[in-house]
Amino acid sequence: MYAICPTPVAVNQKENTVHELSVMSSILNIVLDHANKNNADKVIKINLKIGHLSDIIPEWAQNYFDMLSKDTIADGAELSVEHVPVKLRCLSCGHEHTFEKKDWSFTCVKCGSSEIELLEGREFFITSIEIM
Ligand SMILES: [Zn+2]
Repeated sequence: MYAICPTPVAVNQKENTVHELSVMSSILNIVLDHANKNNADKVIKINLKIGHLSDIIPEWAQNYFDMLSKDTIADGAELSVEHVPVKLRCLSCGHEHTFEKKDWSFTCVKCGSSEIELLEGREFFITSIEIM
């Protein structure tokens, strides 16, 4: 078994149209594509990075993936999800703040400004794929 890491793959995620089924379908296509290019017999594990602001619920993601991957070499593959905290930067004072838990607010914790920029937290990446 070994891991293949293409450059991290960003899954196309359009505002307001994202839902688990279409996202998991994109993931499966990317995974199968890379697995085939590497002559894999089986996909064991898929490592994902999901931002806290992403709408994806990991349990659902696994269920949909199981459903979609039936009869492919990715059948039975485990999804391993690493969560990315929400990180904001204040455009007024420049303060950057990372919310480790899901307790973010969209005002600056330092100066109270609502002029903020989202730096991290909406990611949805495949970081690596383990195959054999
Ligand atoms: Zn501020």
